[in-house]
Amino acid sequence: MHDTAIIGEGRGANGEGRSAGGDHRSGEGRSTSGEGRSANGEGRRLDIEEIRRDFPILGTTVYGYPLVYLDNAATTQKPLAVLTAMDEYYKTINANVHRGVHYLSQRATDACEASRVTVADFINARHAYEVIFTRGTTESINLIAACFGKKFLQEGDSILVSGMEHHSNIVPWQMICEEKKATLKVIPIDENGELILGGLDAMLKSGVKLVAFNYVSNALGTINPAKEIIAAAHRYGIPVLLDAAQAIQHMEVDVQDLDVDFLAFSSHKLYGPTGIGILYGKEEWLNQLPPYQGGGEMIKTVTFEKTTYNDLPFKFEAGTPDMAGMIGLGAAVRYVQELGLANIQHAENELMTYALDVLREIKGFRLIGNGDAEHRAGVISFLVGNIHPFDMGEILDQQGIAVRTGHHCAQPIMDRYCIPGTVRASLAVYNTPAEMDRLAAGIRKAVTLLG
Ligand code: PMP
Repeated sequence: MHDTAIIGEGRGANGEGRSAGGDHRSGEGRSTSGEGRSANGEGRRLDIEEIRRDFPILGTTVYGYPLVYLDNAATTQKPLAVLTAMDEYYKTINANVHRGVHYLSQRATDACEASRVTVADFINARHAYEVIFTRGTTESINLIAACFGKKFLQEGDSILVSGMEHHSNIVPWQMICEEKKATLKVIPIDENGELILGGLDAMLKSGVKLVAFNYVSNALGTINPAKEIIAAAHRYGIPVLLDAAQAIQHMEVDVQDLDVDFLAFSSHKLYGPTGIGILYGKEEWLNQLPPYQGGGEMIKTVTFEKTTYNDLPFKFEAGTPDMAGMIGLGAAVRYVQELGLANIQHAENELMTYALDVLREIKGFRLIGNGDAEHRAGVISFLVGNIHPFDMGEILDQQGIAVRTGHHCAQPIMDRYCIPGTVRASLAVYNTPAEMDRLAAGIRKAVTLLG
């Protein structure tokens, strides 16, 4: 039974002291902000060439050219630390978690629960049991839409999202709104790719039950004023879900500082494996929600007459979880913590400034969204002259440069700008100025061929 989940950390009958529930002090001793820095607290300049050696795929070639991987907003590459951790799991630990008394099952449980604690520390969750493993951002949002909607949404209510959401933070809300005869409201965006917050209070007052928006836009790179929006929603007692899929790899995300109620992100955009992600929820909210799926692990007792549900986090983790994924995600978080997110952000900001400078020299280059490197993260969305994004993407690909083209699962944004899509170059910590030069040269070649 489930009590084997608590190996090594004696859990009282009241659930205290479980391994998944170790308390996390706010702020103090966070590896997120503490590690990866020099003794005087100053940021450390990262050695990008050394970092690149951690990622075997970056040494490969595409059509005879050294790979320039600029599709990091879709998924990041994986460092050896992650690959080795997952390999080791299958080679030396593989067993189902939480269910067996045998040695391997206990080791698997310990390793997975240690990853939960690592993630809790990373986002500064007060308790590790507020960290739920899901399949990714999409599943985390669907979980809250379904469970929150079932419990709290009624006819005439509304959910408020922003005009720059990924489809994953639109469609689950549309589905539950349709079911409950509620409405979806939208915070508009301006030409600069920023949210227009002037009408926010009026919107919040009009029957909004939950606000859901992204911290960083995957299509524009805009960093939204999350703390401000969360505080505004809280003034009306409205909970907030923050989609941190494009923030968690670029900047420090502290759930207590943000005071956010729910937070979602995917491992695979944070140098971790696919198929695993996180839903963070404040204990008081998660405890109020019904389970998402029924099955093993999420129960305390089952009879044909009645089932009682497990405590957090297991109430939301039905079925055998992705153990290798949990361990891989833990390794990815530790990798990022060792580099230091503040250091990563600094390096990426410098690279973003450099990239914008070289790209703006290209005739016909049009940046979509905010042009200020400090107010954007990760993403450069652009068009060049009348060249269709798809054609640009193909010509870049022929030169070994991987970018994304299209609507980036954010069609309403493309409608807002009246464009069919963009070319999106998205950065990670391992990208270099030399790669930005290759991108600029690649675009110039496309202009010569197609312009
Ligand atoms: N939200 C945002 C902002 C994203 O960028 C993405 C992935 N592109 C998602 C949600 C969905 O993430 P996943 O496909 O990993 O569930």
